[in-house]
Amino acid sequence: MATKMLSDWEAEAAQLHIEGRAFINGRLTEALSGQTRPTVNPANGQKLADVANCGPEDADAAVRIARAAFESGIWSGQSPGDRKMVLVRWAELIEAAMPELAVLETLDVGKPISDTYNGDVASAVRTIRWSGEAIDKVYDEISPTSSDSLALIQRLPLGVVAAIVPWNFPLTTTAWKLAPSLATGNSVILKPASNTPLSAIRIAQLATEAGLPDGVLQVLPGPGGSLGKHLAMHMDIDGLTFTGSTAVGKQLMQYSGQSNLKRTFLELGGKSPNIVFADANLEKAAAYAASAVFYNCGQTCTAGTRLIVEEKIREGFLDMVVARTKAWMPGNPMDPSTKMGPMIDQDQYQTVADYVEVGRNENAELVCGGNQTLENSGGYFLEPTIFAGVDNKMRIAQEEIFGPVMSVLSFTKPEEAVQIANDSIYGLAGAVWSNDINTAHKVARAVRVGTMGINNYFGGDITVPFGGFKQSGNGRDKSIHAFDDYTELKTTWIEFD
Ligand code: NAP
Repeated sequence: MATKMLSDWEAEAAQLHIEGRAFINGRLTEALSGQTRPTVNPANGQKLADVANCGPEDADAAVRIARAAFESGIWSGQSPGDRKMVLVRWAELIEAAMPELAVLETLDVGKPISDTYNGDVASAVRTIRWSGEAIDKVYDEISPTSSDSLALIQRLPLGVVAAIVPWNFPLTTTAWKLAPSLATGNSVILKPASNTPLSAIRIAQLATEAGLPDGVLQVLPGPGGSLGKHLAMHMDIDGLTFTGSTAVGKQLMQYSGQSNLKRTFLELGGKSPNIVFADANLEKAAAYAASAVFYNCGQTCTAGTRLIVEEKIREGFLDMVVARTKAWMPGNPMDPSTKMGPMIDQDQYQTVADYVEVGRNENAELVCGGNQTLENSGGYFLEPTIFAGVDNKMRIAQEEIFGPVMSVLSFTKPEEAVQIANDSIYGLAGAVWSNDINTAHKVARAVRVGTMGINNYFGGDITVPFGGFKQSGNGRDKSIHAFDDYTELKTTWIEFD
């Protein structure tokens, strides 16, 4: 990777074969209606491929196939050790295809190539390999009964699982869903986001190559409002795992209640606090404060969009963060030196531009950014943007903007920092920066979020669970705990004569 330059990646892109068909029963297939929908490169607005636009009829067919595969035991009945072998082989094939998948993801999402290569694809490999490696090391339980009985507590797969994922980390979130659901023996139907279906189609092909039996994994691209809703309402789907917005997550819970009470696990939005005390390593904290918001153009559920700074260093620290924004000026995502690419599409760009107006109208101080840039590219690029003088009651402090926009607030006492941090409907992530272990730990413990960093942001790996408190969701991706979302606990009580 270190030796590859823009021209190398462009050459890789030029010889890419882009596949837009759905993947059902181990084969690439058109939508039954024959309809397609274009997927577009957000960096230049140009069409990349026509993608199968699947609808309810495709979903019904995919569910029948997934159910038959599950009932046959062809995967669900394999030993965990045998499933492990397939998942590890799959991870190896993805690893071998890293340059291809990184280019595909960069073209489809607009995310910088250095991030897709080192981040998204590498993380998908780790997730699938780790889940495969873990599944034959998880034991079931025997309860403490009297000697004339024996009670087994076993984890059994749910059956047929639907996974619906967003466009901001398509490959990463797809791997977070597929690895544990397949490892535990389920059959799965994945609906990628309409904007970013390509990498999921590609890795499904690689799964078959790795030995995953036909019918165990299907990838159905198509619109959330029709295909996604149909999956969520389906009477023969046992589990639904979702990453996306809180608004859609709420609808999915209702669909579950209106249909068959399928197990529904949600990873949703955030408005994460990043708290900086005066005694912190301020150079490091400033660098991370910028990357916490501008990484992936702010289109990150865990983005540290509320920078909450101790009042006595507020001005100086703000200057340090503003100085860091220069490194985040958007550029061509295929260039390995680019740190920030475009927004995903015109709609998202407009949403974020509207929030910049909201911030101005709320009398927050626009310290830098706020303008469109690289207009001639045909892409949707926005400058890194910082608002200072923000009150936590403002909309730009409460609502998920999902763009490169930071809101800066201040506090005088640790309790006030915690109070501001917790004054949110969300509880996904956050961080605290302090060299006093007592302050850092007390604050980290008191902030009601699923993941909290101390003297880092975005810290963590596949060994730890990821998910939200409050309206940031109810499930957990990653780690052994992810297996809980895809299994039912079954008790078998045996009595001896
Ligand atoms: P979104 O609008 O909620 O869409 C997510 C997925 O749901 C897409 O595949 C979408 O399909 C589908 N969908 C939309 N409406 C649906 C419906 N009525 N029924 C079933 N499915 C439906 O979210 P997004 O804009 O793609 O992604 C951004 C959001 O995801 C942000 O809020 C972000 O915080 C959150 N996110 C959370 C995490 C986490 O782990 N907590 C990680 C990443 C992102 P279409 O593409 O066809 O609309």
